[in-house]
Order: sequence, then structure tokens, then C-alpha cells
Amino acid sequence: MGTSTAGSNAVRTTCPYCGVGCGVIVQANENDSSGWSVCGDPDHPANRGRLCSKGLALGATMGDEDRVLHPSLAGRQVSWDTALDHTADTLRRLVDAHGPDSVAFYVSGQLLTEDYYVANKLMKGFIGSANIDTNSRLCMASAVAGHKRAFGADAVANCYEDLEQTDLLILVGSNLAWCHPVLYRRIEEAREKGTLRLVVIDPRATPSARDADLHLPIAPGADGFLFNGLLTHLAAAGTLDRSYIEQHTTGFDEALAAARAQCPDLAAVAAHCHVPEGDLATLFQWFIDTPRTLTLFSQGINQSASGTDKVNAIINTHLATGRIGRPGAGAFSITGQPNAMGGREVGGLANTLAAHMDFTEENCSRVGAFWNASRMATGPGLKAVDLFDAVHDGRVRAVWIMATNPIVSMPDGARVREALARCEHVIVSETFSDAATLAYADVVLPAAAWGEKDGTVTNSERCISRQRPVRPAPGSARPDWWIISEVARRMGHGDAFPYQLPAEIFDEHAHLTTVGNDGRRALDLGGLRHLTPSDYNAFRPVQWPVRANGKSTARLMGDGRAYFEDGKARFVRVTAQAPQRAPQDEAGAFVLNTGRVRDHWHTMTRTGRAAQLTQHIPAPHLSVHPHDAKRLQVEDGDLVALRNSRGQAVLEVTLDDGQRPGEVFAPIHWNEANAASADVGRLIAPFTDPHSGQPQFKYSRISVKPLPMVYWMRVGARHATVAHLDHLLASADYWTRRTTAYGQEWLIATRQAIPPVTVARLGEDGSPEEAHRQVSFFDEGTGLARYTIADDHGVRLVISMSPVRSTPQLLSADAMTRIFASESPQPVAMVGGLAGPAVTTVCACHGVTQDDLEEAIGAGADDLSTLGNVTAAGTGCGSCRPELAALLRAATASA
Ligand code: SF4
Repeated sequence: MGTSTAGSNAVRTTCPYCGVGCGVIVQANENDSSGWSVCGDPDHPANRGRLCSKGLALGATMGDEDRVLHPSLAGRQVSWDTALDHTADTLRRLVDAHGPDSVAFYVSGQLLTEDYYVANKLMKGFIGSANIDTNSRLCMASAVAGHKRAFGADAVANCYEDLEQTDLLILVGSNLAWCHPVLYRRIEEAREKGTLRLVVIDPRATPSARDADLHLPIAPGADGFLFNGLLTHLAAAGTLDRSYIEQHTTGFDEALAAARAQCPDLAAVAAHCHVPEGDLATLFQWFIDTPRTLTLFSQGINQSASGTDKVNAIINTHLATGRIGRPGAGAFSITGQPNAMGGREVGGLANTLAAHMDFTEENCSRVGAFWNASRMATGPGLKAVDLFDAVHDGRVRAVWIMATNPIVSMPDGARVREALARCEHVIVSETFSDAATLAYADVVLPAAAWGEKDGTVTNSERCISRQRPVRPAPGSARPDWWIISEVARRMGHGDAFPYQLPAEIFDEHAHLTTVGNDGRRALDLGGLRHLTPSDYNAFRPVQWPVRANGKSTARLMGDGRAYFEDGKARFVRVTAQAPQRAPQDEAGAFVLNTGRVRDHWHTMTRTGRAAQLTQHIPAPHLSVHPHDAKRLQVEDGDLVALRNSRGQAVLEVTLDDGQRPGEVFAPIHWNEANAASADVGRLIAPFTDPHSGQPQFKYSRISVKPLPMVYWMRVGARHATVAHLDHLLASADYWTRRTTAYGQEWLIATRQAIPPVTVARLGEDGSPEEAHRQVSFFDEGTGLARYTIADDHGVRLVISMSPVRSTPQLLSADAMTRIFASESPQPVAMVGGLAGPAVTTVCACHGVTQDDLEEAIGAGADDLSTLGNVTAAGTGCGSCRPELAALLRAATASA
């Protein structure tokens, strides 16, 4: 391994979560409760040894619990041969009877590049359809379309070092502090050392925005207007780079005319964006004054019905000033997923062919010849939303879903469920048995998970890294590339899918990137061909392109040459659009925005297993401005029902003065596996961008109504299963579940009183082991009830019930944790005994609560470093540092 942090059995691999792509070192460690120690790889260029809270908790997610261990068919365990034969027969029979477009694959940015490559090859070269799309469509498809329109290739020009080399960083549609924490740490350090200015354009005062030198709380979806206004302003101020525009671009006059027509002056931009004219003027002047300006964008731009235009409006301003692919300057797309870029490289999007080639006749015959394809697709396939529409109406009769949970993550979740329920054949390759989509599977194929898989991923700066196995896959789980290749062989394509090792697939992929590539295709891995298995095993992170001479390239287009035939980049004429609105939901009073929280990932199938990740934000919530809360007559912790014509959800209110009044925010992570009704995908209309097909996740109209409850329960259990709880949950009006250090905790609420006798029955957990100490407290008059069971191993079950949610009547989560840690359950019988107030954990690494921090600040800790010394907060992964900074600022303001 060659570093002081790595022992002889340590494995270097790559984090499976966000697009930063941090290097991780994993080592078996019997002294760690998870059995693994995990730390950042100091030699990985993306993170240089840092990890965020999610990366650090990876060890806790690597157990065998809740894994899909064996193939099954119609709910019955079968052999691999049976499952694979059945899958191959089904696909072949449908293609023969109904044509290639009657089947589809829906894959994922969680797949490794090698998995993606064989899936794409099977569908586009041998089934003969391009009906393979990926959940990356939901994440960054607009960036891809914008790059191709501007540069002639899906070329991300910048690298992470630009974050340190820039003088003005504009984050637009990105809460980087929470969603890409390690990159944010790099920015924090650059700000501490130099004069880097940070501007955040975001409707919400996110932790990133609260930390910024300037925050523009823009109206939802108005980013296109802002960047059109900036282009107009640059021209009016005479600050364009005329020589760059003339030498390296076309289409400037048309783009400027469109921008000027819409945003002739600052006042017009301010009116569209609902931000003060003075703040706009400040941003525009900073942009003019700062040659090293980097605009970094993410899902807030991409997840829009006009996301591609927004991307091009951003790129237009950088082309107009010659700030593309230069040190510290450019328009930088950051992906959400660990291998969104790898998927883009092999053709994992339905509208691309392979190796960054589109569906031209020449490319189809080139790739067809390279693959020796038996049935080559000739045109684009169905993008995600259209794909599930085709499943819904029966055009697609079999869908193979790999490593993703579409009934939770897709917009209009109810329709996706309906589509899968109607579908003749649903094949699901999955790792975790509680993934909600499994409920619709006819065939379940157990896939290897992170820590077991072997292959490569590409991060947001085009850096290819290895994911390496640190343990064998449990049961009969297998890598995705193996499963797909086995199905291909059984469909009669054995010669084209002979792979025994992922290294062989990588070599073929690298070779294809060079075929017919005369330098006009950005993606070129010529220098990575012919790696032996041991070269592949020793592979160090490298940024593409790596041309045949072996040279890697940190930035693209620094010489001004784009990838069109004439080498010139294109300005795109952008007429900015407001978000699309569903007429039937106009009565809804609120605009719903959705996104990620700091310590969770996607649908929580992995992060939901780590107790340290369920503390920061323990339950699904709706962020509501205090003025709106007052209008709705709700307070922090009250429940509200969200409704529109597509569905409904029930969430807890969190007061947040960082929301714009009239707008609310909900996280995307919770779903039926861990909450009664928190799946906000059900509320999102499937409006998509016409160029990228990416859905508009950031703007939905909803009504919000208080949902008063009459009874609350908090249940803690040392084991996940408690008899009678399922029955209770089925009749509850609200519940959430989370993993805790001692086991599992549920918060349950009902709109009707629960008789105390139910509490006693919940205690009968069905265990054959005699529960020999029981402590109970019932008060029929007040409805308060507490019930505790202990056995020889300590506290097994604690139930607290109350007509009100507040402590001391209802035990707080913290009190529950202390009871499980206690030698005797006795104190729980006393109302108020252990019932401390609810606590908010800010630092997940060291379990530091907001109370601890406020106490330390009150005692004189007045900067991040002192606060870290006193409480240890922020000294682990550093993901909480923006929140610590906000607490310090709040204390200063109140002083
Ligand atoms: Fe993983 Fe965090 Fe790094 Fe993202 S920033 S790759 S989630 S450790």
C-alpha cells in the first residue's frame, strides 16, 4: 500500500456515494464494532485523506444483515442457473415476438464502469434496442446535453484543483457543504488561506449559502434569467473577451440578442429573480473583476424542465469572457453519483451510443463492427420518464432494474409503481432486501455490494479510480458484470461476452474509446489499454483523456479548441423559462423543493444502516419558514400533510428561516422502508427538459395542512423485530424508524387514542427467551404509559406513550438511548426521571449536540478552532463545520 496509514491487509478503494469520488482505505479491524476501520486515502487526489461523515461510516454498512443472498423467481429461492436461464429466455422470447424495443434496462450510477459497459453492449449491440437508461438521468443529464450543445462533447473542462486556484467561486444550485462535503472542505481551506470569494445562488439559505460572502436567494428556477442578465451586463460594460469570442466560438450575437431581449438591464433581472438589484450588481461586478471565476453547478440547475438551457446560459457567460478550462476558471458540473461519469463514458444514457459517440450511421457501424454486434441499435432509446411510461402502457414488457430504487427516486412515484405492477416481467438486481422496488420483482438477482465489487468509477473531475473488494460477497451474490454476461451467454452471445475478469472489460472499453478517434472525441483511454490483471489491480487514479502516449490531462479546452469539426465552441441562444406548473395543482399554496441532507444518501438502503448517520437529521421533515408556520398554526415537530393531484406525504415541520416564505423543502431519502408516508417523489410531476429528459424535481405545487395527532409513541428495541409492531404501524397515521446504537427506534403517532393494554401486548415480543424483568407505568387518566423489558443482556424493549409529543411526557430519543445503556430499567417508570429534552446532534463523528456547542460558545469558544478544541466538534470529517460557523455567527449576532 505504501502509506503509513495503511496496514498490510488494507485495501484502497473509492467511496460509493457522491460524485467527489474520495479514495478510501478499508481494513478489517476486530476492535471496531463494525469489524472494519475506514479512513481517507491520503494519496487520492480527490480527497487527500479526508472523508465526510458518510464515507467514515462505511464500515457500519458492510454487514450481511438484510442482504439479498440468493436468486429467486416469483418469491421462491432458485439456483443461479434457473434464474439466469429464465431471464435470458424471457428477454429472447419477447424480442423475438415483439421486437427489441419491448424490453428495457434501467441501471444506475452505482454500477461500476465495467458493469455499465456490458449492460450497454448487450442492449445496444445484441438485443438491438437503446432502451437502456440510468438513474443518472435524474441527476446530471442536463449538464451532458448542455456540454454537447456548447462543446460538441460531454466534456467537463475543469478539475478539483480549480477550487483552490479560483478567486471567485459561484455555487449555483448546489449545497456543496452537505452534498459534496469533501470538496467544500477544500474550499474552506482555500478561503482560510487566501482571498477566495464565495457566492451562492440558491432559493434556500443552505449551510453553503449561510457561509458565503454573498447569497442570492433567487426565485425557484430563475437561474437562466440571472445568467442571461449577466451576459447582457458583460456586453453593456464592454468587458467581453472579443478575441476569444472571435477565435474560438460561434453564435455569440444570437445568444446576446436573446439574453438582451429578456434581461435588458439589472432591474429586469432583479424582477425575474426576486433578488435585490444591489446584490446582483455586486455579483456582476465581481464577475467582471475576477478573471479566475469558477461557476460550479449541480442538481439545482440540472433538475429542471429547462435545465439544459440553464447550463448553456452559464457556459455562455464563461465563453464570453474566455474563462473555459483555465486554471481557476470555468463552468464546472459536479455530479451527484459516484459513477455518473463512468456511465456517460460507456453509453449508459439511452440517447448516447458508447465511448461518447452519438447515434450517427457512421458511429453505429463503427461500434457494431467493434463489438461484432448481431443486432445493432440504430437510434436513441427511451429516457427514464418515457421508459417507465412505456412500461406503464405495455410497450415495454420486461424491464431489468439494476442497483436502483425507481419507485422511490422517480417523479410521480405512484405511476411508476403502477407501471411495475402491470409489467409482465420485472427483473431486479439488488443488494439489500428492504429496497422498496423488490416488492414488484418477478426475478430477484442478488448483486455484490460496495466492498465486494471490483472495477472502476469516474468522478466529477474525470478521474478514474478503482473500487476494490475488501470482503467476499455473502450468500450467492455476484458482480453485476458477471450476471449480465451470463444472461448474454444464455441468449446466445457467448462469443461477445467471454469475460472472466473486470480487467478484460476495462481493456475493451479503453480500446473502443480509441476506435475512429482522431482527437475530436474528448474521451480517449488509449494510454490505459493492455493493462494486465496486475496493472489493473495496481491502477492509480488518473484523469482522462489518457491518450496513447500515456499523458493525462487535468483540464480540457484550455487552448480554446472545442470538439466540433471546426474546433469552435457554440454560444446557445437561451430564452429562460419559469418552472413548469401543473394546472390542476395551482390551488396549492406552496412550492415544494426537494434535495439531499448531509448524512444520507439516496433512498437510504445503505446510510440508513449506520447509527452515526441517523443522528444529525433523525426523521423526514419539511422545512417551513416561521411566517408560514404561523399562518398554518404549526410549530416545530408538528405533523403536516402535503398533497397535490399526484399524491400525498406526511412530514414533521422544521422551522427554517432560510426558506423563502411560500416555499418549503423536503429531503428525498425517506421512503416506505423507514417511514409511513415520507416519499416525496409521489408529489413530483414528470415534467422533463426537452433536450436532456431530466425531470423537474425542484418545483412542485402542493398544499400543506396541519395533521394533529392525539397519541405519540416512541419505541426502542434492541432487535429490529418486535412482535405486534407491524400491526401497530399498519394502523398508525405516522411513523418513522431509524437505526440507533442500541438497535432500532420508532416514532409513531395516531389520530385516535391507543388503549394502554396495547402497550402491554407490544411487550410480548415473541422471543422464546424469558423476559424476566418488566417495569411498567400506566396512567389511565392522563394516557401516559411507559413499558420496559429487560433480560440477562440488558434492556430489550422500551415503549413510551403520551397524548403530547413533548418531553417529559414522551421520552426523548436521547433518554431512550440512555435507558438502553443503563444497568437497570427502573428509572423509566418515573415520569420525568430520564426524560431529558430532545437533542440535536450536529457533529456526527463525535456525537456533539447543539446544547454542548451552545454551552461551549457561551463559555467563550468564539471560533471554529477553539470550539473544536473544547468539544471536538468539526475535528473529524469536518462536514459539520458550516453548521458550527452558523452557530458562532448566531451567537455573535445575538451578543
Ligand atoms: Fe464519499 Fe463524502 Fe467523499 Fe462524497 S464527499 S465521495 S460521500 S466521502
